[in-house]
Amino acid sequence: MLYRKSKNSLSDLGLRGFLSGYNHPMPKPRPLDPESKPDDRVDNALRPQQLADLIGQDQVKENLSILIDAAKHRGEALDHVLFYGPPGLGKTTLAHVLGNEMGVNVKVTAGPAIERAGDLAAILTNLRAGDVIFIDEIHRLGRAVEEVLYPAMEDFSLDIVIGKGPSARSLRLKLPRFTVVGATTRLALVTAPLRARFGAVYRLDYYDIEAMRQIVARAAGMLKVSADESGIREVAKRARGTPRIALRLLRRVRDFAQVRADGTITSAVAKEALDLLQVDPLGLDDVDRRVLKTIIEKYGGGPVGLNTIAASISEEQDTIMDVVEPYLLQLGFLDRTPQGRVATKSAYEHLGLAWTGEEQGRLL
Ligand code: ADP
Repeated sequence: MLYRKSKNSLSDLGLRGFLSGYNHPMPKPRPLDPESKPDDRVDNALRPQQLADLIGQDQVKENLSILIDAAKHRGEALDHVLFYGPPGLGKTTLAHVLGNEMGVNVKVTAGPAIERAGDLAAILTNLRAGDVIFIDEIHRLGRAVEEVLYPAMEDFSLDIVIGKGPSARSLRLKLPRFTVVGATTRLALVTAPLRARFGAVYRLDYYDIEAMRQIVARAAGMLKVSADESGIREVAKRARGTPRIALRLLRRVRDFAQVRADGTITSAVAKEALDLLQVDPLGLDDVDRRVLKTIIEKYGGGPVGLNTIAASISEEQDTIMDVVEPYLLQLGFLDRTPQGRVATKSAYEHLGLAWTGEEQGRLL
C-alpha cells in the first residue's frame, strides 16, 4: 500500500483492491467517509473564506484571531500553526482562512507528496514574504525532508548541498519569512522536534449539533437546495459532527428529494434517503456497526486489539483509528483500555443487543 489517504490515493483510481491482492475486497464507497473524494471538490466553493464566516470551533477561532491580530500589529508573518483532529473538520479550510486574513498566498501540499528534500527546497524558494505553506498529513514527511524543514521554520534558511563526494559544497540560502500550517490526524506520529517548531497547536473537535445545523443550512442556501428546518436538522444530526460529511449527505439527500419526492428536503425525505444510505440516526454506518458487532459478537465485548478488529472486518487499521474509533469514543460506545477496545453498554443498546458486561466485569 503506497498511500492510505484517498487524496491522491490509489483508491481513487480503483486500484486499491487490485494492488493489495485478493484478500482485500474492493471497499464499497462510504457516504460517511470523511476523507475528501473527487466529487467533494464542488464543496471547495462553499469553503468559508474569512474567520467570521467560520461556523463552530469557537475556541480555535478566538485563538487564531489573536494570533492574526498580533502578527498584523507587528507586521510579521504568522507563527507556524499545527492543526490536528479527525479528517473533514476544516483543517484545510482554516489554512486558507489564515492566508486570506493575512492577505497572502497559500501553497497547498501534503507530507507524502514531498518525497525528497529537493522537492521541499523547490517549494520554499518560491515563497514570498508572509506566504503560507499548508502541509497536510505532516506526520508522513520523510526524515530527510523534515531535517530540511527544521532550519527553514526556525531560522528561515535552507542548507543545500551541491555536488557529491569530496567536491560537494554546502550552501546556505536565506528564505523570506513564511508560515507553515501543518495538519495531521495523528498528533502522536508528529516527531517531537517538528512539533516543537510550531508556535501554536490546536485540536479540532467534532462540531456540535447547532454548528452542524448552521453549516448544512448555509450550504443549502448557497447550493439553492430547497429544505425545511426539520430536513436540515436531520442531515446535520447524521453527519457525525463532520462538515465534509454533512455537505456530502446534503447532496445525496437533494438527489433523493428530486427523484423520489417533490424536490424539498423535509425530515421524512431526509430520513428515508439516509436510511437508504445505511446512515443511522446517530450517524453510524455499516463500518462502524461492523466494528462494534465484531467486538461484541466475536470477542465477547472486548477487550480486543485494534489490529484484530481490522483484520476481522477486512478494513484498514488506519481507517479504524482515524475515522471509526474517534467517533465511537465520542459517542461513548467504545472504551480504550490497556488491553484493547471494549464496547460499552450504550453500544449494546444502540445495536439492540443484550448487555453482557456485568458478567464480563467479573471474568476480568
Ligand atoms: P480537513 O482539511 O480537516 O480534512 P476541510 O478543510 O477540507 O477538512 O473541510 C471539509 C469541508 O467542510 C470543506 O468543503 C469546507 O467547505 C467544509 N467546512 C469545514 N469547516 C467548516 C466550517 N467551520 N464551516 C463551514 N464549512 C466548513
